[in-house]
Parts: sequence; C-alpha cells; structure tokens
Amino acid sequence: MAKITFLGAARTVTGSKYLLEAGGRSLLVDCGLFEGSEELKQRNWERLGVDPATIDWVLLTHAHIDHTGYLPRLVRDGFRGPIYSNAATHELCALLLPDSAHLQEEDAEFAAKKGYSEHKPPLPLYTVPEAQTALERFRVISRLEPFTISPQFSVRPHDAGHILGSSWLELTITENGKQTLVVFSGDVGRYDQPILKDPEPPRHADFLLCEATYGDREHPAGSVEDELADIVNRTAQRGGALVIPAFAVGRTQLLMYYLHKLEEQRRIPHLPVFVDSPMAINVTALYASHHEDHDAEFSALELTGDHDPLNCHEVHMTRTVEQSKAINDVVTPCIIISASGMITGGRIKHHLARRLPDSRNTVLLVGYQAEGSGGRLLLEGAKYLRLHHEQIPVRAQIVEMGQLSAHAGKSELLRWLSLIQVKPRQTFLVHGEPNALDSLRTAIATEYHWPVIIPDYRQSFDLSV
Ligand SMILES: [Zn+2]
Repeated sequence: MAKITFLGAARTVTGSKYLLEAGGRSLLVDCGLFEGSEELKQRNWERLGVDPATIDWVLLTHAHIDHTGYLPRLVRDGFRGPIYSNAATHELCALLLPDSAHLQEEDAEFAAKKGYSEHKPPLPLYTVPEAQTALERFRVISRLEPFTISPQFSVRPHDAGHILGSSWLELTITENGKQTLVVFSGDVGRYDQPILKDPEPPRHADFLLCEATYGDREHPAGSVEDELADIVNRTAQRGGALVIPAFAVGRTQLLMYYLHKLEEQRRIPHLPVFVDSPMAINVTALYASHHEDHDAEFSALELTGDHDPLNCHEVHMTRTVEQSKAINDVVTPCIIISASGMITGGRIKHHLARRLPDSRNTVLLVGYQAEGSGGRLLLEGAKYLRLHHEQIPVRAQIVEMGQLSAHAGKSELLRWLSLIQVKPRQTFLVHGEPNALDSLRTAIATEYHWPVIIPDYRQSFDLSV
C-alpha cells in the first residue's frame, strides 16, 4: 500500500522531507535542513526515522537549503541512490550546499571556542567535502518533461515561479495496476513578477501537499518601482549611501532588475552599485544563463539588445575581502547590496558598522526578518546595533519593502489552487507556522470545501484509500 510520511516542514516552515513508499521501494521528495530556533535545529541531529540506506531515490523541488540542506548528511549516513533535479537546481545546489557546509563548520568551531556543544569535540552537521560527495549523486532531469523513476514512481515537473529552477511536482504512484496522483507544491512563487515565469497551476490531484508560508498574509500592494525610485532618490539627494541586506538567491537579482530598469527610464541617477557577495555574483550569472526559466518580458529584453538586464550602469562585483573593505572609502552616493538578508552574518555587518551612524544613509530591508535578527531589531527601532562586538548607533533611515517576497501570499495560493475541478481526496498543508496553516485551512475549506489536514512531524498516511 502506498504511504507518505512527513519527515519535516510539518507545522513549521523548514526541513521539507516527504517519504513516499510503494511496492517495497521508497522515494524522498525534498531533503531540507531545519532552520531557525535551537529546538528546530536540534532535529537535524536526531535520527531521521528511516534508515537513509533504504531510500532508493531523492527528488527535489528547488535548491533552497530548507529543501536540500540535509542531503550531505543523508549521503553520509548511507543514502546511495540518485538525487534527481533539473539543471538550474543542480547548479544552485553546487553553490549552496558547500556554503551550508562551511556555515556548519563555523558553527562547530564557534561552539568549540565557547565550550557549549553536546559533542566533544563539537562536530559540524557535515563538512565541505561531504557536501561535494552529495553533489556527485545528482542526476539532471528535464525541466518540464515527464520522467519515469521506476515502475512505481513517475514525475512531471511544472514551473513554480519561486526561484530559478523551482518546480512543483506531479508524482504518479503506480501500485497493483492502480495509479494515484500526488501533487507537491514545493514553494509557490508570485504572479506578475519580473524575470521568472508565473507559477503554472495544477489541474487535478488525488492527494495534494500545499505550502502555507504566507497562508495568513498578503503582500503589500504598492508599486515596487515607485517606492524603490523614491528611496534611491531621497538617499542620493542627501548625499548618502543606500545599504540593502539581501539574500543571494532571488532577491538580489530582483533588486538589480528593478534598479537597471529605473536607470533606463531615467527615474534614478546612475549611481555606483556594489554587489558585495561572491555567492550573489555567482547566482546572478546562473539567473542570466537559464533562459528556460525566463518569462516573456525578460526574454524580450534580451532579444531587443538589452544584453544585461540584471546589471546596472555602473556595477561593481566584489569578490575579495579587500575589495569589500574598499567600499568603506566610497563617500559619494552609492548602493551596496550584500548578504546576509537578515543581518545575521556576512559582509553586510561591516557595511552597516560603517554606514549606520550617518543620518544621510538609508538601510532598506527587503525580506522577512526573523525574531532576534539584526534586521528585526532595526525594524523595531533599535537605537544601537551590536556589530563585531561594538554598539553601533543607528542614525541612518530604516525602511522596509515587503513586495519583493518570493512566496505567494494567501490569495495567490488560493488562485494557484483554483483550477483544480475535482476535489482532492486529501489536502495536506505543510511548510507554514501554525497561524498560517490554520488560516489557509479555513480559507480552502470555505472557498473550495476540500478536506484539509495539517500533518504532524513524522506522521504517516495511507495513500491507497
Ligand atoms: Zn524556497
């Protein structure tokens, strides 16, 4: 009998892992890391609940670490099968997994110094060489064509519009001559966003797994271009710098796209733009090269001779630490985009230490800011921010733009589901905090009258009924 077990992203937004069993074989859809609180991160160290050596295949929806970051550990603990993903997801993972390993190693070193780890000596969850070993197990499958994994499992990927390479999956399980269609939403992107295609909607599902990250929220409706132009112009007129903490995948490319467009339309001056993150530079190159993911507008730009719509007039890509530090000497108006997006680490810290004390400057926060992060403290009006063991006075203007999210808001999720005519036998809501899950469950029950379950961590369900 076909069965699904929720090994992550159950009543929380990270750790996506769904185990499918049929005909004595097993397939893991996504293999994400738990992130956030210490309690959640501790789950990465617990036994998986299934012996990795008994899993036959892994199939990925997209490259984000909360969907792929457990892969090195899975391989280290005995998984020997292929990891199926499309080319863009594979190339992003080749950047993100070693970076994740590097962060795990740093955490272990830090714990060793502070002497608070349970492991003696403190160990990383996995190492950079272990991430490289996991990458060797990747097998690239077609972006959108159906693919047969085994007699039990076949998959058809569709555009999810969330990040480069992101897919939702139509998985057909065949057992005893009977076919069951399971739809995995992965993470659903937004409609009418530049660069990537809109999410394609599913039309039928026997069982549906739907993400609910923004299940209780809508994104602000204001025009990104108007707001961004206003922020850039006000900062430039004061003679200040605009500092933007941004995640390397997706957000940095969207910002570059909008800044480029505003420059072309002469709505903002040509300012030097510093992209100060080696990861972001590499990811931007991938965004430019994967034409199969580009929407019509973006493809048309490239055709009309706008060869570099992800680059501004005067862009400086800084890879080395020396180049990064040299940005501190720039005294004329400029724009600095650097990671991490929530000011939890990375080069953004030294830019903020330099720019926060000056009231001419602006810090623009463009993504979700988790509780306790530097970004959240700034939003809450902190007068000082602790950076590199120093209390830095906050005099720069702090502004926020919520429109650049990569996740569908509540009504966009409902829109994505709206073409399913026959109600699924069961809908499982995953990848959300409790309020978001409850809110989306109520909305689906009210609007579509479908049965909806919010599964628990490690809960299993029979898919043959
Ligand atoms: Zn994602």
